[in-house]
Amino acid sequence: MGKAKAMVSACLVGINCRYDGKSQLRPELVECLRDYQLIPFCPEYLGELPTPRLPSEICNGDGAAVLAGAALVLNRQGDDWTPYFIKGAEATLRLYQEVRPDLIVFKAKSPSCGVGQIYDGTFTGKLRSGDGVTAALLRQKGACLYSETDILQNKPEK
Ligand code: SF4
Repeated sequence: MGKAKAMVSACLVGINCRYDGKSQLRPELVECLRDYQLIPFCPEYLGELPTPRLPSEICNGDGAAVLAGAALVLNRQGDDWTPYFIKGAEATLRLYQEVRPDLIVFKAKSPSCGVGQIYDGTFTGKLRSGDGVTAALLRQKGACLYSETDILQNKPEK
């Protein structure tokens, strides 16, 4: 039997896809997932944003509000990047439906990948409740979402 499959936010496994051109490698997460075949994904890359890029946050809402047309994703200069984030979410959903992973792990707090908590749109490091745009779309489609913090605090059973 093949290994169980885990989709994981690419920056967490050492891919330099963050807005600042760096990764957010979490070696302890990679170790925790050593029994899985890892399938990295980056919604912002899939949405065709460049790397590096300006940081962006969801303003006046969360990912579900963005999907409902009730909030925008703005970069730090105030440009509307909502279409890129929606495109990236839809591309990630297609990948999810193709791969049918046993587990999906998202980078906490990101405007794309955040699960349950995201930056609040003020670019001050403050948090608000809610998912990022991609996490919200996958949640709406019935996916069971974990952040890296969830995994490291309570390793899931395969
Ligand atoms: Fe990491 Fe997700 Fe941001 Fe890509 S969109 S850099 S995977 S947190």
